[in-house]
Amino acid sequence: MRIPENKIEEIRSAADIVDVISEFVQLRKRGKNFIGLCPFHSEKTPSFTVSEDKQIFHCFGCHMGGNIYKFLMEYEKISFIEAVQEVAARVGINLEYEEDTTGKESEQEILYEINVQAARYFSDNLLNSPEGEVARKYFVERKIKPQTMRAFGLGYALNGWEYFVEYAKTQKIDLERAIQLGLIGQQNDGRLFDKFSDRIIFPIFSANGRVIAFAGRILENREGSAKYLNSPESLIYVKGRILYGLSFAKDEIRKLDKAILVEGYMDLISLYQNGIKNVVAVSGTALTEDQVQLLSRYTKNVVLLFDADAAGIKASMRSIELLLKRDIEVKIVTLPSGEDPDSYINKYGKVEFDELIRKAQNFLEYQTAYFESQGYFEDHNKTAEAIRELVKLLALIDDELKRNLLLKSVAKKFNLREKLLETELDKTLKRQVKDESSRQAVKDGRPNKEKTGLHFATLENKSDSNYILEKELVKLLYEGNKEIIELIFAHFSPDDFNYQFHQELVAEVYEAHQNSEDLTASTLVAKVKAEEQQAYLLEITFDKYSISKTWDELNPVFEDEKLLYKFAMDTIRNFKIAKIEEKMAANHDKIERAESENEKLELMKENMELEKEKKIVREESGSESRV
Ligand SMILES: [Zn+2]
Repeated sequence: MRIPENKIEEIRSAADIVDVISEFVQLRKRGKNFIGLCPFHSEKTPSFTVSEDKQIFHCFGCHMGGNIYKFLMEYEKISFIEAVQEVAARVGINLEYEEDTTGKESEQEILYEINVQAARYFSDNLLNSPEGEVARKYFVERKIKPQTMRAFGLGYALNGWEYFVEYAKTQKIDLERAIQLGLIGQQNDGRLFDKFSDRIIFPIFSANGRVIAFAGRILENREGSAKYLNSPESLIYVKGRILYGLSFAKDEIRKLDKAILVEGYMDLISLYQNGIKNVVAVSGTALTEDQVQLLSRYTKNVVLLFDADAAGIKASMRSIELLLKRDIEVKIVTLPSGEDPDSYINKYGKVEFDELIRKAQNFLEYQTAYFESQGYFEDHNKTAEAIRELVKLLALIDDELKRNLLLKSVAKKFNLREKLLETELDKTLKRQVKDESSRQAVKDGRPNKEKTGLHFATLENKSDSNYILEKELVKLLYEGNKEIIELIFAHFSPDDFNYQFHQELVAEVYEAHQNSEDLTASTLVAKVKAEEQQAYLLEITFDKYSISKTWDELNPVFEDEKLLYKFAMDTIRNFKIAKIEEKMAANHDKIERAESENEKLELMKENMELEKEKKIVREESGSESRV
């Protein structure tokens, strides 16, 4: 499947990025742009900026940015094609797919297709093959019904080393790609083997229900084998950005405005089978920020239902912090010892389970109960430590009223003076403000060294005129104005730019111009693929506190194209002059070090020529302008 380039652009230009982002982020107008709290990192003052005229967004805090497709891909954790489909549906444009005549079917689609074939194969083994009996028995013992097996696409990889390899060959599955996807392994002698052998298979679905990876669980404890084997990361699978079961649960989560977070695949499947469908599983890793962000799209109420063992408690504690940071209301359910969600639901049923969820503790109750059980409040020093921990969590809550109410309840419960807690909370909050203000620095036009490394770091002291002029020209090129682009390339080529990152950015526009591609701002920005390059570009594009006064003063009236044109002419002229001066300065250096009078004379002559050239450029500019 492939969507034609011009269609992608047609769809993009039919949608308004401000409208779309407004659905997810509260935006307000500031100057020419819209600003709001960034959905990609946690912040208290807005650094997230959307440009209506350029149809792009940028965050000065975390440097995320791009066009409408990029926003949806990052926000909804979907693929490019899916983002295009979503925008197309919004603006009511019918998507027609090009027949795959060039053999250039999207690589992602090919991978999805291989996974679907593999999933069908595994499922067929489990449901229909005689060798699948051992796996069927496993699920029957876990009380999983056949229709549930079908619903979740559960499967079984036969006990052998070449079953899937053979199947792949007969199905003409590209073996190289099957290796990439972790379905097939390759030995040193080149021999291929089944990666998942004698394992129960759980297909892992994207939020949109596509098979992006597999998890394989061993049937019995095998010497030297991991309990779970997961697909490696690939073009279609990024670990830590997926919540298992989300495609099944998302409607119910929205409906109930609550999500239950569990640890394992079987927990989720058992709950689902018993009618509890607002469940997602972390699966495999500890909860990540990406997962929290993904979940927060569906609800702000999360109940943690982790195992009651030490590992489960530790995972709960860490998860609470991540969730609070995202303004999520966290509750925690403690299961009777020895139970996990799977065993509990099968033993007690839905009614008891619902009751358990209803009685979930808030995070403070949970945390204090934990400290209490560990004897923290019997020892003076440990009490202080526990209080600090509790206050640290409180400080993560943005809502002051809520924070204070919770503080009172902690004080009351432990018979502590409120004042003591308040002082501690103040200290913690001040520390946070400090962290925040260092982030704020980025917005004041100061580059963020840590985040973006090399480029921004090396730019910090670049106040020399050459750098500023190059920067202004790059900005002008990415205004998306064809005439301006032509004007600039009539005078310069990418090689004329001294700074490599400018050179590369200019080269992108140059190439698009040479190939008569679409030259609107948002398309040009999307062409820049390297993350750091794009961050830099967006940073300077949105830069309100530009080092160059001229730009800022002119910016508001740039709606008038003639003025934009004039500004471009001025910048071109100044850049030309700067380049001449650069050459002259280099010659001066050479003159100082020249060994023969002759050489000196030659250089001086050259500089006189350059001086003349400079004068001409200065004078010419007036007549060349079309204003
Ligand atoms: Zn951000």
